[in-house]
Amino acid sequence: MNLDPAADWEKTDCPGCQCNRGFVFLNLKSNGGSQQNSAQLIRCPDCQLVYLSPRPSQKIIGLFYSDDYAPHQANKYKPHKKSSKEFSSSPPRINATLLDYGCGSGAFLTKMKALGWEVLGLDSSANAISAAIAAGVKALKGDFNHPEIAQMKFDCITMRQVLEHLHNPVETLINARKHLAIKGRISISVPNIESLPFRWFKENWLGIDFPRHLLFFNPASLENMLRKAGLKIKEMRQVRHSSWLRESALNALNSKGFGFDRWIGSKKLGSSAISLWAGFTHQCDCIQVLAEEED
Ligand SMILES: [Zn+2]
Repeated sequence: MNLDPAADWEKTDCPGCQCNRGFVFLNLKSNGGSQQNSAQLIRCPDCQLVYLSPRPSQKIIGLFYSDDYAPHQANKYKPHKKSSKEFSSSPPRINATLLDYGCGSGAFLTKMKALGWEVLGLDSSANAISAAIAAGVKALKGDFNHPEIAQMKFDCITMRQVLEHLHNPVETLINARKHLAIKGRISISVPNIESLPFRWFKENWLGIDFPRHLLFFNPASLENMLRKAGLKIKEMRQVRHSSWLRESALNALNSKGFGFDRWIGSKKLGSSAISLWAGFTHQCDCIQVLAEEED
C-alpha cells in the first residue's frame, strides 16, 4: 500500500467541544519521521483542551506506532511503579470485572488478575493483543464496539495514558460509560499540560510525544470532557514521574542541549527532587481521575 503521510494530515476543530476558535498554544518543529512541518498545538477557549492540528488522520496514525513501540512489546514495558501502586487495589467483590482499554502487552492486566480481578483487555494493535494473550490474559483487538463485549458491563474500566491518543475522545468515553456496571468506576490517567516539566521543556517534554499524542489535558479540560460524556469525578490526583523529567531532559539535550538539562538528565537525585517539588506544587506530569456515571 502506498501512503503519503503528508496528504493525510487533517486540520481539526476542538475534539472536546467542536469549537473552531482555538488559538496557537505551541508551535512544533518539523520532525524528520513525520513528513509534516507545520503542526501546532491549539488551545480551545471554551473547554481549555489543547490539541494537535493538523494531526495524522485515523487512516495513517498507525504508521507512527512502529513494531517496536514499547507499550506494545512483551518484556519491554512495565507499568510505572507509581501507576502500579495506585492501581493495585483488590477487587470489591469476588469475580469483579476489569476492562483495560489500550491494554498494550498486558503487564497491568496480569498484575490485576493476580489480585483477583476478572480481566479483559482491548487494544487496536495486533502485536499488543498477541503479547497480552501470550502473557495469559484475555484480550481482544478493537474498541468498545467489539461484538464480543456488546452485552458486557464492568466494575472497573481503566484507560491508562490512552485518552490523549484518541481522535474521538468524547465518543469513546460515552461508550466506556455504557459498559459500566452499577456503581462501576472508570480510572483515567493522562499527561498534564500544566505540569512544571512541560513549562520547562515545552516541545521536548515526554508528554508531547509528537505525533502520537493528539490531546493535552489540564485538570479543568479533563473534567469538562468527562462531564460532556456523562461522567463525574470522584477523585482527582496528580502523579509524579521523575523518570519523565529525566527523559524530557534527554530529549532537550538531543535537540539542542544546554547545561541545566544536562544536569537534570544526568542526576537521578536531582530529577527526583524536582519531581517531588512539582508534586508539592500540584504541577505533576500526570493527572489521574476516578469517575463514575452522573446521577
Ligand atoms: Zn473545546
